[in-house]
Amino acid sequence: MNTFNPYAAPQSAVLPPALERSGGTENCWRDGSDLLARPQADLPRYCVKCGEPAVDYRKRSFYWHSPWLYLLILLQMIIYLVVALIVRRQGQHQVGLCAAHQGQRRRFILMAWLSPLPLMGGFMLETGTTMLLGSLAFLVMLFWGLIGMRILKPRRITRELAVYGGVSPRLLERLPRYPYRRD
Ligand SMILES: [Zn+2]
Repeated sequence: MNTFNPYAAPQSAVLPPALERSGGTENCWRDGSDLLARPQADLPRYCVKCGEPAVDYRKRSFYWHSPWLYLLILLQMIIYLVVALIVRRQGQHQVGLCAAHQGQRRRFILMAWLSPLPLMGGFMLETGTTMLLGSLAFLVMLFWGLIGMRILKPRRITRELAVYGGVSPRLLERLPRYPYRRD
């Protein structure tokens, strides 16, 4: 089978055009459950969590670096932090949230802020059990809050493209399919 199909998508020239040469208006795409965007492109004015019209629509920054970098933590936390700050890539987009998800996010932020309270309470009571329970409650509230307050999950950000998960399928449906090859 070696038939030439003139209607088939081109197989080779499918890499995204370089950023400076892409004059098109399309800057956001979907690919499966991923949202892809130019690193400075604004997302549609809909909630990224549920696809409802956004009431909170503002510029937000997201960062990503290669997961291999986490190995540096084993070496030295400070080395990791310095290297991560240098090599991390940034995506910056106008991102929408509806009133419900804006409120939900505020509650997660509040939970993270309040997480030291059970820790302090447990240590003030000065028994082994309260200190242990206080520490556990602190960790659960802190990480639950930090994870819950995230708006987008950066999967990969390069100079050319930012890829995010955790986006509402209803928002993704509004975007054109990503026409290029993913590396
Ligand atoms: Zn929403």
